[in-house]
Amino acid sequence: MRWAQLTLVEDDPGKFDPQFWLDYFKRTKSDAVCLSAGGCVAYYPTNIPFHHRSAWLGDRDPFGELVAGCRKLGMVVIARTDPHATYDDAQQAHPNWIAVEADGKPRRHWASPEMWVTCALGPYNFDFMTQVKREIMSRYRVDGIFINRWDGSGMCYCEHCRENFKAATSHELPRTNDPQNPARRAYILWRQQRLFDLWQLWDREVRAINPNSCVIPNTGGGATSSLDMKRIGELAPILIADRQARRGLTASWANGKNAKEFRATMGRKPIVGIFSVGLEEPYRWKDSVQNAPEFQLWAADGMANGLRPWFTKFSGTLHDKRWLKPVEEMYRRYASWEKYLRNERPLARVGVVYSQQTGWFHGGNVEDHINGWYQALIEARVPFELVHDRLLDAEHLTAFKTLLLPNLAALSKAQCDQLRAFVKGGGSLIATHETSLYDEWGVKQPNFGLADLFGVDYAGRTEPRMQNAYLRCEHQATNHHPLLRGLEDAPRIIHGASRVEVTPREKFGPMPLTLIPSYPDLPMEKVYPRVPKTDIAQVFLREFGAGRVVYFPWDIDRTFWEVLCVDHFKLLRNAVGWATNEPPVVEVTGPGVLDVMVWRQKTSITVHLVNLTNTMMMKGPIREFIPVGEQHIRLRLPADAKPKRVHLLAAGKNLATKRDGEYLVAKVPSVLDHEVLAIEL
Ligand SMILES: [Zn+2]
Repeated sequence: MRWAQLTLVEDDPGKFDPQFWLDYFKRTKSDAVCLSAGGCVAYYPTNIPFHHRSAWLGDRDPFGELVAGCRKLGMVVIARTDPHATYDDAQQAHPNWIAVEADGKPRRHWASPEMWVTCALGPYNFDFMTQVKREIMSRYRVDGIFINRWDGSGMCYCEHCRENFKAATSHELPRTNDPQNPARRAYILWRQQRLFDLWQLWDREVRAINPNSCVIPNTGGGATSSLDMKRIGELAPILIADRQARRGLTASWANGKNAKEFRATMGRKPIVGIFSVGLEEPYRWKDSVQNAPEFQLWAADGMANGLRPWFTKFSGTLHDKRWLKPVEEMYRRYASWEKYLRNERPLARVGVVYSQQTGWFHGGNVEDHINGWYQALIEARVPFELVHDRLLDAEHLTAFKTLLLPNLAALSKAQCDQLRAFVKGGGSLIATHETSLYDEWGVKQPNFGLADLFGVDYAGRTEPRMQNAYLRCEHQATNHHPLLRGLEDAPRIIHGASRVEVTPREKFGPMPLTLIPSYPDLPMEKVYPRVPKTDIAQVFLREFGAGRVVYFPWDIDRTFWEVLCVDHFKLLRNAVGWATNEPPVVEVTGPGVLDVMVWRQKTSITVHLVNLTNTMMMKGPIREFIPVGEQHIRLRLPADAKPKRVHLLAAGKNLATKRDGEYLVAKVPSVLDHEVLAIEL
C-alpha cells in the first residue's frame, strides 16, 4: 500500500547509513520497498562476468544488508535492476551487446560518456540480464525484480536487431517514423513481441527459483505508450506507473490519469505510482527537493484514482533532507486511511476511450483530444474512467452508460460493431472529429465506420486549419436544447480549429449548433461575416431507444485543451449530461477545481475530493494549498447500500447527512488538499 524506493549511487557503499533508511521506512509505515541490486552497477558481490561491482563495494553487501533489514520490518522487498548501460570491458568482449546508431556506429551513453548504451532486444538482455536476475533471485529470494529502462533507448541497428527483424518480417529496419511505411508498421509490432518475449523469459526464470515472485518491467501508459496495454494487463500481476512529477504546465490531474490508464487494462490488480520528491524538468536535477505541496498533491491525485504511492530517492547519502518530513506525514496519513484506500470498484458511469492503435498507426495529437475531455470532466466534477479500445466487449463496458470517443480515428470493423452493440444495449456515445474514419492500421476509409450511428457520411474533406470561424447557437429553433445550457445569452461562440465535412444521411431536425464559416481576420476593416448564418449543423444528436449518440464533426476536445474556452467546456459538459440521461452518480457544488472520484469498498463507499485549485495563476508549480469553501454533496446511493456512519477522513470527524430519496446529502465545510467522505455500510 505504501512503497519506498532507495536507488543507490555507485559511491554509496561504505558511505551511506543503511540504518537511517530502515528507520525512515519504519517511520513512514512503508510496507514495500524497491532496493538497488544490479544491472549498471551491482550492489552485492556478484559472480557474473561483466556485472560491474560498485567500485566502492569492497567486501560489503549493502543490498543484502538492506534486504535483511526490510524483511525484519515485515516489508515486501523487490530488487531494482537497470540494464540500459554498460562499460568498456563488456563492450570489448561482447561488442554485440551494444546498441548501434543508424550510421552503424556503436552508441556511447549520452549522459555518462564512459559507458555504452546496450541493445534491449539482443543477447545483453536475453542472456546476460537473465543470468543477473537468476543470481539475485537465487541468493536473496526477493518478492520481485523491478526492471528500469529495459525496453531500449530508441532505435538500434545492431546485427541482432537487423537479422532478427529481417527473419521475422522480411523487412530491413525502418529509417522513417512514418507508420504507413510497411517496415515501420512491422517494426512497431515486432519490437513489442520481442519485449513481451523478454518479459516472459525473465518471469519464467525468476518464478522457477521463487514461485511467489515475478518481474515488474517498468512500462505502461496511455494512447501514446509503445507497448500494448491489453497484453500488459494480461501479463502483469502488478504494475508501476513511472511518471514522477509535473514539468512545465503539466496538469495537476495527470497522475490520476496514469491510474485510470492502468486500471483500464489492469482491472483490480494493484497499481503503484512513483512520485519524485525532486523537480522533474529536462535539466534533470536528480538530487533536487521539490516544494512539498507540489509532490503531496501529485501523490494525492494518484491515490484518489487508485494508485498506491511510491516515493523515490536516488542516492543513499542525502544532499538535502527537506522532503523527509512531508513524505513521512503524508504516508502516516495514508496509513491511517488504509482501509478506505483499498478501492474495490469505481462507481463512474462515464468512460473515455483511449486507443494505442490510433497513436501507433494514425499518429497525430491523440493525447490533446483526450486531455480536452479529461479537463472538461474534471471541471464538471463528473467521476469517470478511461477505457481501452481493445477491451470494448460487453463485460468491460457493463459499468458504463456513456463512452466518449476523442477523435478515435483508427477503429476496426469489429470495434465499431462492439460500439454499435453498446448503443443497442442502451449505451450512449459522444464522438468527435475523425472518429472511425480510419481502419485499425490507420488507413483512411471512404466513410466513417460509425456513419450509421452518427447519421452522417464523410463528405471527402477535412479542413485542417480554420481561422476565425464561429458557431451559431440555435436557441429558438431547438426550443432551448439542453446542449446549450449556460449559453442562453450567447448568440454565437467560437468554432474549433479543424472541421470534418459531412453529409447528413437523413433529415435531421434543427440542431443546436450551425456553422458561421471563416472570414478574414485582417485587415480589421475586412473582419465581418460574409455569411451570417448557414444551415450546416456542427453537432448531430440522435436517440436509439435508451442510447443516445452525439457527434461533433470538429475538434472541440483538442481546441478546448489548447484554448480552454469556457463555452466549449459548457458544450462538452452538456453533451455528457444529455447523452448520459440519468441522475448523476454524484453532484459536488462549491468553489474551486476538484477531482472527484467515487469508490465502493467491501464495507464502505468513499468520495474523494482532491483540491486542484492552484495558487500560481498561469504557471504550474503548487506553492501552497488554498482551502476551498463549502462543498455540497449529493451522492446517489446504490440500492443495496445502507449507510451507518458518514465521516471525513482528513478532518477526522463525523458528518451530519440527510436523505433525499436515493440521494445522500451532505455539506463538507472545506477541502485543503485531499478530503475523503467515507460512508460506512
Ligand atoms: Zn540491437
